[in-house]
Amino acid sequence: MEPFLSLAKLCEALEATTKRNEKVAMIGNFLRSLSPDEVALAVPLIIGWIFPEADSKPLELGYTIVSSALKARRQGRLIEAPLTIKAVREVFERIADVKGPGSQGRKKALLEGLLAQSTELERKWILKNIFGEMQHGVNEGIMLDAIAKASGVPEELVHRAYTFTGDLGKIATIALSDGAVGLSKIGLELFRPIKPMLAEMSYDISEALSEHGGITAFEYKFDGARIQIHRKGSKVRVFSRRLSDVTESLPEIVEIALNEISANEYIVEGEAVAMDSSSKPLPFQDLMRRFRRVKEVEEKASEIPLRLYLFDILRLGEKSLIDEAYEERWNLLRKICPEKYLAKRLITSDPEEAMAFLKEAIEAGHEGLMAKALSSPYYPGKRSKYWFKIKPFHRLDLVIVAADWGYGRRRGWLSDYYLAAFDQVSGCYELVGKTFKGLKDEEFEEMTKRLLSLKVSETEHTVAVKPEVVVEVAFNEIQRSPRYRSGYALRFARIVRIRDDKSPRDVDTLETVRRLYEAQFEHKGRLR
Ligand code: AMP
Repeated sequence: MEPFLSLAKLCEALEATTKRNEKVAMIGNFLRSLSPDEVALAVPLIIGWIFPEADSKPLELGYTIVSSALKARRQGRLIEAPLTIKAVREVFERIADVKGPGSQGRKKALLEGLLAQSTELERKWILKNIFGEMQHGVNEGIMLDAIAKASGVPEELVHRAYTFTGDLGKIATIALSDGAVGLSKIGLELFRPIKPMLAEMSYDISEALSEHGGITAFEYKFDGARIQIHRKGSKVRVFSRRLSDVTESLPEIVEIALNEISANEYIVEGEAVAMDSSSKPLPFQDLMRRFRRVKEVEEKASEIPLRLYLFDILRLGEKSLIDEAYEERWNLLRKICPEKYLAKRLITSDPEEAMAFLKEAIEAGHEGLMAKALSSPYYPGKRSKYWFKIKPFHRLDLVIVAADWGYGRRRGWLSDYYLAAFDQVSGCYELVGKTFKGLKDEEFEEMTKRLLSLKVSETEHTVAVKPEVVVEVAFNEIQRSPRYRSGYALRFARIVRIRDDKSPRDVDTLETVRRLYEAQFEHKGRLR
C-alpha cells in the first residue's frame, strides 16, 4: 500500500516545476509505482478532484468546519501509522456520504480523524483537494499524457478511450494493466455515457459557412440541458452532460424514449428544455430545478413540463454511428423519431437565409444557432470547428472564484462576483472580470449561502471560494487590462444564468477570451 505521503511529495514536486514534460514524466513514474487497485484512487487525488468525474459528489465541508477541524487536530494525539492513498479516499467517501441532521458535526469528526493521522505535507495536499485549488498545473491533458507515458500506450489511444468513459482513473488502470489491447477494447457501449461533442464559439454565420466549405446545417440552439438517452428493450437510462445518471428526474423523457422513438436499441442525444403553459421556453434556472429535485419529481413534472429536441444519434441496434457523417446520422435519426422531437434545422449555403433562421430561433425564445459540418463524424469530448455555436450576444462560461460583500440594498449578501477563465497553460483559473449584475434578490440569497459553503479564505470585504459555481456571463466588449494577471477584462459583464449543468472544468479558456478579443478587433477594423 502506497503511503499518501508519496502522493503529497509528488504534488509538491509538480508544483515546483513549470515544465509540462517534467510533470508528465513525474506523474508517469508515480503511477507505475502503484499497485493496480491504487491507480484509480490516486489519479483524482493527484489532479485535485478527489472522486472520479462522473461520480463527483460534494463534501459539503465549509471553511468553518475545516478550520475548526484543523484547530482540534493540534490538540489531538498524533497517530503513528502512515496514511495510505486508499485510506484518504475512504474517509472522503464517508464525509460525502454523511447527510441529514447533525451531519456537519459528523463530517467534522471524520475530517479531524484524517488530519490527526496526517503529516504537515499530507495535510497541505488534503486541504488543497478539499478546496479544489491544487495550483500545481496538472489538468486532464497532462494526466492523459502521463498515463500514456507510464503505460507505453500511444497518447491518441489513451485520449480516445477517455472520451468513451470519462473516467481518468479507470483509463489509467486499464492502460497500466492491459496496455493498448485493453484500451482499444473501450468503445461506445450502451448504458455508459460518453463525453459529448462540443462546439466552438463563432461570431458570425459567414465564418461557419466558409469553415464548412460553403454549406452547413444550422440547427436551433436550445436553451436547455443536454441529455444522452440510452435504450435497449424496456431499459432506458438518461445521462446529463456531466455524465451523471438523471433518469429518475426525467420520467417523461423515459416515456418518449420507450413509446415514441421507434427502435429497440439506440443512443440518441438532444436537449431537454423547460416550457411554460404557452409553450415558451422557460429560463434555464427552472429547468435545473427539475434536475436537482429527484424527490418531488411527480409534482415538478407537471409544474415544469419538458420538451425534448433530439439532434444526434450515436448508436442504432448494435452499430456505432460515431464514425458516420453528420448527414447520415441525421437520416437515421429522422427515421426513428417523430418530427416534433427533432431539432429544427436548415441546410443552406445562403448567409441571408441563415440570418433569417437565426432571427426566427431568437424570436421563438431560443438561444441562437448551431452550425454543423455535413460530413463530420461525431467526435466525443472534442471542441472543434465542425460544430459552431452562434449566439447573437457575446457570452462566456466562467467560474466564480471570490465575491465581495454587498452594501446598501445588497448588504448581507455576497453580491459582487470575481469571474475567472481557465488557463490551459498554467492549469489555473485567471480573473477576467467582476460583476454584481444579473441575479434576482432570491438568487443573491441562495448564491451567498452556496459561496459561503465553498469559502477558502476571507478578508474584510472579500470571500475567496473554491472554484465550483459556473455562470454564463454576457458582456459588451473585452478590453486589455493591467488589473488582472490574465491581461483581459470584460466590459459591462452581467450574469445571464447559473450553469449547474457545467463543471468548473467546462468553463471557457483564456485562449477563447484572447480569440474573442482579437476577433472583435478585426470587426472594429472593418467598421472603420
Ligand atoms: P454551450 O453550452 O454554450 O457551450 O453550447 C453548447 C451546448 O448547446 C450543447 O452542449 C447543448 O447542450 C446545447 N445545444 C442546444 N441546441 C443544440 C443543438 N441543436 N445541437 C447541439 N447542441 C445544442
